[in-house]
Amino acid sequence: MPVHLGKLADQRKADRMPEGDTVHKIAQFLAPRLTGVMVEQVKLPDADTAKRCSGQRVRAVVARGKHLFIELDNELTIRSHLGMHGSWHRYPHATAWQRPRSQLSLALSTADWEYVCFNAKEVEIVRSPSVRRRIVHTRLGVDLIADHTDPAFLASRAREILDADALLIDALLDKRIACGIGNVYKSEILFIERLSPALLLTDLDDDSLGKCFQLGADLLRRNLGGGRRTTRFEHDDAGSLWVYGRSGLPCLQCDTPIQSRRMGRHHRNTYWCPVCQPNNVHKTNT
Ligand SMILES: [Zn+2]
Repeated sequence: MPVHLGKLADQRKADRMPEGDTVHKIAQFLAPRLTGVMVEQVKLPDADTAKRCSGQRVRAVVARGKHLFIELDNELTIRSHLGMHGSWHRYPHATAWQRPRSQLSLALSTADWEYVCFNAKEVEIVRSPSVRRRIVHTRLGVDLIADHTDPAFLASRAREILDADALLIDALLDKRIACGIGNVYKSEILFIERLSPALLLTDLDDDSLGKCFQLGADLLRRNLGGGRRTTRFEHDDAGSLWVYGRSGLPCLQCDTPIQSRRMGRHHRNTYWCPVCQPNNVHKTNT
C-alpha cells in the first residue's frame, strides 16, 4: 500500500493546507528512512537538475518552518515547500501513483521505495552551506542576559552565520548570534580582551571569540541594576568606561590617545587604544 505522508502526519486534516508541524512530521517520517540511504534516481520536472542529485546519499532531512530540506552528500540540498496543495506519498517500486505524473514535483527512488512529492509550491536545488546559512538567518540569537551563555556554541554560531573575513565587531553586534551587546559594549569588550577592532573572525580561535560573548554577558548582567553603564569597575574618578566616547583622551591604562572611527557593516563609532589593542592574531593552537 502506498503511504500518504500528508495523511500520515494528520489523518483528520489531510486535505488542509500543510502547516509547519505537518512538515516537521513529514521530516520525522522521512529522516530515519532516508538518512544515509542512497538515492538512486531523482525525478524533477527539470531532468538536468535531477541528474545532479541522483546517485547521492542523503545526509539529513530537516524541517524548518514550512520548508523541508533534504541534504545530499554532494553539498546539494533539495528544498521543498508544499504550499496549499502539496503532499508526499511513498510507494513500493512498480506501483501506480495515485496522482497523475503531471502533478509530480519531486521523486526520490531508493533501493526499496519511491518517495514522491506532488503539487509542491516550490522545489529548488541549492548549495548546502547557503541553505544552512538561510536556516540560521531566520532565527534570533541567544539572549545574553536571559539565556545561559555557552561561549563555544556562540563561537561556532558566529562562524556558521558570518564569513571568515567578517569583522569581529560585526559578529558582536549581530543579533542572529547573540542579543544584548550594543555599540558601547562592543568597544569596551575589545579593549578589555586586548583585541583590535580590525580583527576578522578568521584571526581568532574559538576560545578568544567565545570569551568576547561571555564577557558581554557578564557586563550586561553587572549593569542590570541601573545607574551609569559601567565596564570599568575601578574605585577612582577616571570614568566608568575604558574607551567608548573617549576619542583623543589618554588611554586609562597606557596614556596613548584613544582613537575612533566608524567601522563595520553598520558604520558605527568604534573606539580603541592602538597600544593596548595591537592588531595581533589570537590563536593559541596555530
Ligand atoms: Zn592603552
